[in-house]
Amino acid sequence: MSFQAPKGVSEYVPPRSALFEEAREAFNESARRACYAPVETAVFEDTSLFVRGVGESSDVVRKEMYSFETRGGDQVTLRPEFTAGVLRAVLEHNLHRGALPVKVFTSGAAFRYEQPQAGRYRQFYQFDLEAIGTEDPAVDAETIAVAYDAYRSLGLTQFTLLLNSLGDSNCRPVYRAALQDFLRKLDLDEETRQRIEINPLRVLDDKRPEVREQTADAPYIVDYLCEACKTHYDTVRALLTSMNIPYQDAPRLVRGLDYYTRTTYEFDHALLGAQSGIGGGGRYDGLSEDIGGPPLPGIGFAVGLDRIVLAIESERGAAAAPAATGCQVFGVALGEDAHTDVLTFITALRRAGVAADMAFGSRGLKGAMKAADRSGARFAVIIGAEERKSGTVSIKDLENGEQQDVAATSATDWLLSKLRRAGEEAE
Ligand code: AMP
Repeated sequence: MSFQAPKGVSEYVPPRSALFEEAREAFNESARRACYAPVETAVFEDTSLFVRGVGESSDVVRKEMYSFETRGGDQVTLRPEFTAGVLRAVLEHNLHRGALPVKVFTSGAAFRYEQPQAGRYRQFYQFDLEAIGTEDPAVDAETIAVAYDAYRSLGLTQFTLLLNSLGDSNCRPVYRAALQDFLRKLDLDEETRQRIEINPLRVLDDKRPEVREQTADAPYIVDYLCEACKTHYDTVRALLTSMNIPYQDAPRLVRGLDYYTRTTYEFDHALLGAQSGIGGGGRYDGLSEDIGGPPLPGIGFAVGLDRIVLAIESERGAAAAPAATGCQVFGVALGEDAHTDVLTFITALRRAGVAADMAFGSRGLKGAMKAADRSGARFAVIIGAEERKSGTVSIKDLENGEQQDVAATSATDWLLSKLRRAGEEAE
Protein backbone atom coordinates (compact mmCIF):
# COMPACT_ATOMS: atom_id res chain seq x y z
CA MET A 1 0.00 0.00 0.00
CA SER A 2 1.27 3.46 -0.75
CA PHE A 3 -0.03 6.69 0.71
CA GLN A 4 -0.65 10.02 -0.93
CA ALA A 5 -1.06 13.41 0.68
CA PRO A 6 -4.71 14.34 1.28
CA LYS A 7 -6.39 16.16 -1.60
CA GLY A 8 -5.53 19.83 -1.94
CA VAL A 9 -2.42 19.85 0.24
CA SER A 10 0.39 22.00 -1.06
CA GLU A 11 3.87 20.52 -0.55
CA TYR A 12 7.39 21.50 -1.52
CA VAL A 13 10.32 19.17 -2.11
CA PRO A 14 13.75 19.93 -3.64
CA PRO A 15 14.52 21.62 -5.90
CA ARG A 16 11.29 23.69 -5.80
CA SER A 17 11.37 23.99 -2.02
CA ALA A 18 14.33 26.37 -2.40
CA LEU A 19 12.05 28.74 -4.30
CA PHE A 20 9.47 28.53 -1.52
CA GLU A 21 12.16 29.32 1.05
CA GLU A 22 13.37 32.24 -1.08
CA ALA A 23 9.84 33.66 -1.18
CA ARG A 24 9.34 33.33 2.57
CA GLU A 25 12.76 34.78 3.33
CA ALA A 26 12.11 37.82 1.12
CA PHE A 27 9.09 38.65 3.29
CA ASN A 28 10.90 37.88 6.55
CA GLU A 29 13.71 40.18 5.50
CA SER A 30 11.42 42.99 4.40
CA ALA A 31 9.52 42.75 7.71
CA ARG A 32 12.70 42.68 9.81
CA ARG A 33 13.97 45.79 8.02
CA ALA A 34 10.81 47.61 9.09
CA CYS A 35 11.47 46.43 12.68
CA TYR A 36 8.67 43.84 12.91
CA ALA A 37 9.38 40.99 15.34
CA PRO A 38 8.78 37.30 14.66
CA VAL A 39 6.02 35.40 16.47
CA GLU A 40 4.89 31.77 16.39
CA THR A 41 1.27 31.22 17.32
CA ALA A 42 -1.23 28.39 17.64
CA VAL A 43 -2.04 26.35 14.53
CA PHE A 44 -5.44 25.52 16.02
CA GLU A 45 -7.66 27.78 18.10
CA ASP A 46 -11.04 27.68 19.81
CA THR A 47 -13.56 27.57 16.99
CA SER A 48 -15.39 30.54 18.46
CA LEU A 49 -12.34 32.79 17.96
CA PHE A 50 -12.75 32.46 14.20
CA VAL A 51 -16.54 32.60 14.32
CA ARG A 52 -16.38 35.89 16.21
CA GLY A 53 -13.20 37.17 14.60
CA VAL A 54 -13.42 36.24 10.93
CA GLY A 55 -17.19 36.60 11.03
CA GLU A 56 -20.22 34.36 10.83
CA SER A 57 -21.23 35.70 7.46
CA SER A 58 -17.93 34.98 5.74
CA ASP A 59 -17.61 32.00 3.41
CA VAL A 60 -14.52 30.98 5.34
CA VAL A 61 -16.48 30.44 8.54
CA ARG A 62 -19.69 29.21 6.92
CA LYS A 63 -18.20 26.62 4.60
CA GLU A 64 -14.47 26.24 4.77
CA MET A 65 -13.25 25.60 8.30
CA TYR A 66 -11.52 22.43 9.45
CA SER A 67 -13.31 22.18 12.78
CA PHE A 68 -13.41 19.23 15.13
CA GLU A 69 -14.00 18.22 18.69
CA THR A 70 -10.93 17.14 20.64
CA ARG A 71 -10.81 14.05 22.84
CA GLY A 72 -11.37 16.39 25.75
CA GLY A 73 -14.54 17.79 24.19
CA ASP A 74 -13.16 21.17 23.08
CA GLN A 75 -14.32 22.67 19.79
CA VAL A 76 -11.22 23.65 17.82
CA THR A 77 -10.43 24.78 14.28
CA LEU A 78 -7.23 24.67 12.22
CA ARG A 79 -6.41 28.30 11.46
CA PRO A 80 -8.05 29.41 8.19
CA GLU A 81 -6.11 32.69 8.45
CA PHE A 82 -3.63 34.33 10.81
CA THR A 83 -4.98 37.67 11.96
CA ALA A 84 -7.49 36.50 14.58
CA GLY A 85 -4.94 34.16 16.20
CA VAL A 86 -2.10 36.68 16.14
CA LEU A 87 -4.32 39.33 17.72
CA ARG A 88 -5.50 36.80 20.30
CA ALA A 89 -1.85 36.05 21.16
CA VAL A 90 -0.94 39.76 21.36
CA LEU A 91 -3.78 40.32 23.82
CA GLU A 92 -3.12 37.15 25.80
CA HIS A 93 0.56 38.03 26.24
CA ASN A 94 -0.28 41.66 27.02
CA LEU A 95 1.93 43.04 24.29
CA HIS A 96 -0.61 45.81 23.74
CA ARG A 97 0.22 47.18 27.20
CA GLY A 98 3.77 47.94 26.03
CA ALA A 99 4.96 50.21 23.24
CA LEU A 100 2.46 50.68 20.44
CA PRO A 101 2.09 49.71 17.73
CA VAL A 102 2.90 46.06 18.33
CA LYS A 103 4.60 45.01 15.08
CA VAL A 104 4.84 41.29 14.41
CA PHE A 105 5.14 38.79 11.57
CA THR A 106 4.81 35.05 11.16
CA SER A 107 4.29 32.39 8.51
CA GLY A 108 3.05 28.85 8.20
CA ALA A 109 0.23 26.65 6.98
CA ALA A 110 -3.39 27.76 6.89
CA PHE A 111 -6.36 25.50 6.20
CA ARG A 112 -9.57 26.05 4.24
CA TYR A 113 -11.89 23.40 2.87
CA GLU A 114 -12.02 24.78 -0.67
CA GLN A 115 -12.37 23.18 -4.09
CA PRO A 116 -8.70 22.56 -4.96
CA GLN A 117 -7.43 23.96 -8.26
CA ALA A 118 -4.26 25.60 -9.58
CA GLY A 119 -3.21 28.14 -6.93
CA ARG A 120 -6.03 27.20 -4.53
CA TYR A 121 -5.37 24.57 -1.90
CA ARG A 122 -6.84 23.23 1.31
CA GLN A 123 -3.54 23.42 3.12
CA PHE A 124 -1.61 26.44 1.88
CA TYR A 125 1.09 28.75 3.18
CA GLN A 126 0.84 32.36 4.21
CA PHE A 127 3.26 34.97 5.40
CA ASP A 128 1.41 37.30 7.75
CA LEU A 129 2.28 40.69 9.20
CA GLU A 130 0.32 42.80 11.69
CA ALA A 131 0.72 46.29 13.22
CA ILE A 132 -1.58 46.60 16.21
CA GLY A 133 -2.42 49.65 18.30
CA THR A 134 -2.43 52.72 16.06
CA GLU A 135 -4.82 54.42 13.68
CA ASP A 136 -1.99 56.33 12.02
CA PRO A 137 -2.42 56.03 8.24
CA ALA A 138 1.38 55.94 7.96
CA VAL A 139 1.32 52.42 9.35
CA ASP A 140 -1.23 51.41 6.69
CA ALA A 141 1.21 52.66 4.08
CA GLU A 142 4.12 50.97 5.85
CA THR A 143 2.49 47.53 5.70
CA ILE A 144 1.84 48.01 1.99
CA ALA A 145 5.45 49.08 1.45
CA VAL A 146 6.79 46.02 3.29
CA ALA A 147 4.80 43.73 1.00
CA TYR A 148 5.55 45.72 -2.13
CA ASP A 149 9.30 45.74 -1.46
CA ALA A 150 9.30 42.00 -0.78
CA TYR A 151 7.60 41.25 -4.11
CA ARG A 152 10.05 43.53 -5.88
CA SER A 153 13.06 41.98 -4.15
CA LEU A 154 11.94 38.65 -5.61
CA GLY A 155 12.10 40.27 -9.03
CA LEU A 156 8.33 40.38 -9.50
CA THR A 157 6.96 43.22 -11.63
CA GLN A 158 3.75 41.88 -13.17
CA PHE A 159 1.50 42.74 -10.26
CA THR A 160 -0.90 45.52 -9.36
CA LEU A 161 -1.80 46.99 -6.00
CA LEU A 162 -5.56 47.51 -5.69
CA LEU A 163 -6.69 49.91 -3.00
CA ASN A 164 -10.01 50.74 -1.42
CA SER A 165 -11.49 51.97 1.84
CA LEU A 166 -14.34 50.11 3.48
CA GLY A 167 -15.27 52.91 5.86
CA ASP A 168 -15.87 52.47 9.58
CA SER A 169 -18.72 51.87 11.99
CA ASN A 170 -19.89 55.42 11.25
CA CYS A 171 -20.25 55.39 7.50
CA ARG A 172 -20.32 51.73 6.54
CA PRO A 173 -23.84 51.04 7.89
CA VAL A 174 -25.22 53.87 5.75
CA TYR A 175 -23.48 52.50 2.69
CA ARG A 176 -24.52 48.95 3.53
CA ALA A 177 -28.17 49.97 3.63
CA ALA A 178 -27.88 51.86 0.33
CA LEU A 179 -26.20 48.88 -1.29
CA GLN A 180 -28.85 46.50 0.04
CA ASP A 181 -31.59 48.73 -1.41
CA PHE A 182 -29.89 48.59 -4.77
CA LEU A 183 -29.20 44.85 -4.70
CA ARG A 184 -32.67 43.81 -3.57
CA LYS A 185 -34.10 45.18 -6.82
CA LEU A 186 -31.91 42.92 -8.96
CA ASP A 187 -32.73 39.56 -10.47
CA LEU A 188 -30.46 37.27 -8.48
CA ASP A 189 -30.47 33.62 -7.41
CA GLU A 190 -31.56 32.55 -3.96
CA GLU A 191 -28.08 32.16 -2.46
CA THR A 192 -27.04 35.60 -3.63
CA ARG A 193 -30.28 37.07 -2.29
CA GLN A 194 -29.40 35.61 1.10
CA ARG A 195 -25.96 37.14 0.84
CA ILE A 196 -27.54 40.58 0.33
CA GLU A 197 -28.98 40.25 3.82
CA ILE A 198 -25.93 38.92 5.63
CA ASN A 199 -22.96 40.34 3.73
CA PRO A 200 -24.02 42.62 0.86
CA LEU A 201 -20.49 43.89 0.15
CA ARG A 202 -19.51 40.39 -0.93
CA VAL A 203 -22.03 40.50 -3.77
CA LEU A 204 -19.81 43.11 -5.42
CA ASP A 205 -17.04 40.53 -5.40
CA ASP A 206 -19.11 37.98 -7.35
CA LYS A 207 -17.16 37.07 -10.48
CA ARG A 208 -20.12 35.69 -12.51
CA PRO A 209 -20.76 37.85 -15.61
CA GLU A 210 -24.56 37.90 -15.07
CA VAL A 211 -24.04 39.27 -11.56
CA ARG A 212 -21.27 41.65 -12.66
CA GLU A 213 -23.51 43.14 -15.31
CA GLN A 214 -26.29 43.86 -12.88
CA THR A 215 -24.04 45.34 -10.22
CA ALA A 216 -22.13 47.62 -12.63
CA ASP A 217 -24.04 50.67 -11.38
CA ALA A 218 -24.05 49.71 -7.70
CA PRO A 219 -23.23 52.52 -5.28
CA TYR A 220 -19.58 52.65 -4.26
CA ILE A 221 -18.36 52.97 -0.69
CA VAL A 222 -15.99 55.86 -1.61
CA ASP A 223 -19.04 58.05 -2.14
CA TYR A 224 -20.27 57.27 1.38
CA LEU A 225 -17.07 57.66 3.41
CA CYS A 226 -17.35 59.95 6.44
CA GLU A 227 -14.90 62.85 6.74
CA ALA A 228 -12.51 60.94 9.02
CA CYS A 229 -12.40 57.88 6.74
CA LYS A 230 -12.00 60.04 3.67
CA THR A 231 -9.04 61.91 5.18
CA HIS A 232 -7.50 58.61 6.27
CA TYR A 233 -7.83 57.17 2.77
CA ASP A 234 -6.45 60.29 1.08
CA THR A 235 -3.47 60.28 3.43
CA VAL A 236 -2.68 56.63 2.68
CA ARG A 237 -2.81 57.36 -1.04
CA ALA A 238 -0.54 60.39 -0.72
CA LEU A 239 1.94 58.35 1.35
CA LEU A 240 2.04 55.59 -1.25
CA THR A 241 2.73 58.13 -3.96
CA SER A 242 5.53 59.64 -1.91
CA MET A 243 7.06 56.18 -1.49
CA ASN A 244 6.87 55.54 -5.24
CA ILE A 245 4.40 52.70 -4.85
CA PRO A 246 1.96 52.59 -7.75
CA TYR A 247 -1.65 51.63 -6.94
CA GLN A 248 -5.06 51.54 -8.53
CA ASP A 249 -8.22 52.73 -6.82
CA ALA A 250 -10.51 49.72 -6.73
CA PRO A 251 -13.93 50.94 -5.57
CA ARG A 252 -15.40 47.43 -5.81
CA LEU A 253 -12.68 45.76 -3.79
CA VAL A 254 -14.06 43.94 -0.75
CA ARG A 255 -12.41 41.07 1.04
CA GLY A 256 -13.53 37.64 2.12
CA LEU A 257 -13.16 38.18 5.84
CA ASP A 258 -15.68 40.30 7.72
CA TYR A 259 -13.38 42.22 10.01
CA TYR A 260 -11.98 44.77 7.58
CA THR A 261 -12.51 48.52 8.04
CA ARG A 262 -11.04 51.53 6.25
CA THR A 263 -7.91 50.72 4.21
CA THR A 264 -8.26 47.51 2.24
CA TYR A 265 -5.85 46.26 -0.40
CA GLU A 266 -4.96 43.39 -2.61
CA PHE A 267 -2.00 42.50 -4.79
CA ASP A 268 -3.03 40.93 -8.05
CA HIS A 269 -0.66 39.08 -10.37
CA ALA A 270 -1.22 39.31 -14.12
CA LEU A 271 0.08 35.87 -15.12
CA LEU A 272 -1.69 33.62 -12.62
CA GLY A 273 -5.12 33.15 -14.21
CA ALA A 274 -8.15 32.71 -11.99
CA GLN A 275 -6.31 32.62 -8.65
CA SER A 276 -4.45 35.87 -9.18
CA GLY A 277 -4.48 37.26 -5.63
CA ILE A 278 -0.92 37.03 -4.31
CA GLY A 279 -1.68 38.88 -1.10
CA GLY A 280 -4.08 41.18 0.60
CA GLY A 281 -4.75 43.03 3.79
CA GLY A 282 -6.30 45.96 5.48
CA ARG A 283 -7.46 47.55 8.71
CA TYR A 284 -9.50 45.76 11.33
CA ASP A 285 -10.22 48.43 13.88
CA GLY A 286 -13.11 46.55 15.52
CA LEU A 287 -11.59 43.09 15.65
CA SER A 288 -10.04 43.33 19.10
CA GLU A 289 -13.39 44.18 20.65
CA ASP A 290 -15.09 41.45 18.57
CA ILE A 291 -12.88 38.87 20.25
CA GLY A 292 -13.30 40.27 23.75
CA GLY A 293 -10.32 42.64 23.89
CA PRO A 294 -10.07 46.39 24.49
CA PRO A 295 -10.57 48.88 21.67
CA LEU A 296 -7.38 48.46 19.66
CA PRO A 297 -7.03 49.44 16.01
CA GLY A 298 -4.88 47.30 13.76
CA ILE A 299 -3.78 46.65 10.22
CA GLY A 300 -2.00 43.81 8.51
CA PHE A 301 -1.70 41.63 5.47
CA ALA A 302 -1.31 38.00 4.49
CA VAL A 303 0.32 36.84 1.30
CA GLY A 304 -0.06 33.43 -0.30
CA LEU A 305 3.43 31.95 -0.50
CA ASP A 306 2.21 29.21 -2.86
CA ARG A 307 0.98 31.76 -5.35
CA ILE A 308 4.16 33.79 -5.00
CA VAL A 309 6.15 30.69 -5.99
CA LEU A 310 3.88 30.34 -9.03
CA ALA A 311 4.33 34.05 -9.82
CA ILE A 312 8.13 33.75 -9.60
CA GLU A 313 8.05 30.75 -11.91
CA SER A 314 5.82 32.52 -14.41
CA GLU A 315 7.98 35.66 -14.46
CA ARG A 316 11.41 34.03 -14.36
CA GLY A 317 10.56 31.13 -16.66
CA ALA A 318 13.23 28.43 -16.87
CA ALA A 319 15.63 30.61 -14.88
CA ALA A 320 13.43 30.09 -11.82
CA ALA A 321 14.81 26.65 -11.01
CA PRO A 322 17.21 27.07 -8.11
CA ALA A 323 20.26 24.92 -7.36
CA ALA A 324 19.12 21.87 -5.44
CA THR A 325 21.15 22.41 -2.28
CA GLY A 326 23.42 25.43 -2.51
CA CYS A 327 26.30 23.03 -1.84
CA GLN A 328 29.76 24.57 -2.44
CA VAL A 329 32.22 21.78 -1.71
CA PHE A 330 31.78 18.02 -2.06
CA GLY A 331 34.06 15.53 -0.30
CA VAL A 332 35.06 12.22 -1.88
CA ALA A 333 36.79 9.43 0.05
CA LEU A 334 38.87 6.89 -1.83
CA GLY A 335 38.63 3.76 0.29
CA GLU A 336 37.01 3.14 3.65
CA ASP A 337 39.95 4.53 5.63
CA ALA A 338 39.61 8.00 4.16
CA HIS A 339 35.98 8.38 5.20
CA THR A 340 36.90 9.79 8.61
CA ASP A 341 39.30 12.29 7.05
CA VAL A 342 36.69 13.49 4.58
CA LEU A 343 33.98 13.91 7.20
CA THR A 344 36.41 15.70 9.51
CA PHE A 345 37.55 17.93 6.68
CA ILE A 346 34.08 18.96 5.52
CA THR A 347 33.00 19.52 9.14
CA ALA A 348 35.84 22.04 9.49
CA LEU A 349 34.69 23.68 6.26
CA ARG A 350 31.11 23.89 7.52
CA ARG A 351 32.32 25.47 10.74
CA ALA A 352 34.10 28.07 8.58
CA GLY A 353 30.78 28.87 6.90
CA VAL A 354 31.03 26.80 3.73
CA ALA A 355 28.14 24.57 2.59
CA ALA A 356 29.74 21.16 2.20
CA ASP A 357 28.54 17.62 1.59
CA MET A 358 30.22 14.27 0.90
CA ALA A 359 29.65 10.96 -0.87
CA PHE A 360 28.16 8.55 1.66
CA GLY A 361 28.22 4.78 1.35
CA SER A 362 30.90 2.93 -0.54
CA ARG A 363 30.75 4.01 -4.15
CA GLY A 364 33.69 3.88 -6.51
CA LEU A 365 35.47 7.04 -7.57
CA LYS A 366 33.30 7.32 -10.68
CA GLY A 367 30.04 7.17 -8.76
CA ALA A 368 31.33 9.59 -6.13
CA MET A 369 32.47 12.11 -8.76
CA LYS A 370 29.07 11.87 -10.41
CA ALA A 371 27.48 12.69 -7.05
CA ALA A 372 29.89 15.64 -6.74
CA ASP A 373 28.76 16.96 -10.14
CA ARG A 374 25.12 16.49 -9.26
CA SER A 375 25.50 18.32 -5.96
CA GLY A 376 26.10 21.59 -7.79
CA ALA A 377 29.30 22.14 -5.75
CA ARG A 378 32.10 24.18 -7.28
CA PHE A 379 34.91 22.06 -5.80
CA ALA A 380 35.38 18.37 -5.06
CA VAL A 381 37.87 17.47 -2.34
CA ILE A 382 39.30 13.99 -2.83
CA ILE A 383 41.15 12.14 -0.09
CA GLY A 384 42.67 8.67 -0.56
CA ALA A 385 45.57 6.64 0.82
CA GLU A 386 48.16 8.74 -1.03
CA GLU A 387 46.81 12.05 0.23
CA ARG A 388 46.63 10.70 3.75
CA LYS A 389 50.27 9.67 3.57
CA SER A 390 51.48 13.01 2.17
CA GLY A 391 49.19 15.19 4.34
CA THR A 392 47.48 16.72 1.33
CA VAL A 393 44.03 16.80 -0.21
CA SER A 394 43.31 16.78 -3.92
CA ILE A 395 40.98 19.59 -5.01
CA LYS A 396 39.15 19.50 -8.32
CA ASP A 397 37.51 22.59 -9.75
CA LEU A 398 34.30 21.12 -11.13
CA GLU A 399 33.78 24.07 -13.43
CA ASN A 400 36.98 23.81 -15.47
CA GLY A 401 38.19 20.33 -14.50
CA GLU A 402 41.55 21.53 -13.10
CA GLN A 403 42.88 19.47 -10.24
CA GLN A 404 45.68 20.17 -7.78
CA ASP A 405 47.08 18.99 -4.46
CA VAL A 406 46.95 21.35 -1.50
CA ALA A 407 48.43 20.79 1.98
CA ALA A 408 45.62 19.54 4.26
CA THR A 409 46.41 22.21 6.86
CA SER A 410 45.89 25.09 4.44
CA ALA A 411 43.12 23.55 2.30
CA THR A 412 40.28 25.22 4.20
CA ASP A 413 41.81 28.67 3.70
CA TRP A 414 42.59 27.87 0.08
CA LEU A 415 38.97 26.92 -0.58
CA LEU A 416 37.63 29.90 1.34
CA SER A 417 39.61 32.35 -0.75
CA LYS A 418 38.71 30.60 -4.03
CA LEU A 419 35.03 30.58 -3.12
CA ARG A 420 35.14 34.22 -2.11
CA ARG A 421 36.71 35.15 -5.44
CA ALA A 422 34.16 33.05 -7.36
CA GLY A 423 31.39 34.80 -5.40
CA GLU A 424 32.79 38.25 -6.26
CA GLU A 425 33.07 37.33 -9.95
CA ALA A 426 29.46 36.12 -9.92
CA GLU A 427 28.39 39.55 -8.66
P1 AMP B 1 -6.96 36.00 2.67
O1 AMP B 1 -6.49 35.47 3.99
O2 AMP B 1 -8.18 35.31 2.14
O3 AMP B 1 -7.04 37.49 2.64
O4 AMP B 1 -5.83 35.61 1.63
C1 AMP B 1 -4.56 36.20 1.59
C2 AMP B 1 -3.75 35.54 0.51
O5 AMP B 1 -3.60 34.15 0.81
C3 AMP B 1 -4.42 35.54 -0.86
O6 AMP B 1 -4.13 36.71 -1.56
C4 AMP B 1 -3.80 34.33 -1.51
O7 AMP B 1 -2.54 34.67 -2.05
C5 AMP B 1 -3.59 33.37 -0.37
N1 AMP B 1 -4.65 32.35 -0.30
C6 AMP B 1 -5.87 32.45 0.27
N2 AMP B 1 -6.54 31.29 0.18
C7 AMP B 1 -5.73 30.42 -0.47
C8 AMP B 1 -5.83 29.05 -0.87
N3 AMP B 1 -6.93 28.33 -0.62
N4 AMP B 1 -4.80 28.48 -1.51
C9 AMP B 1 -3.67 29.20 -1.77
N5 AMP B 1 -3.51 30.48 -1.42
C10 AMP B 1 -4.51 31.10 -0.77
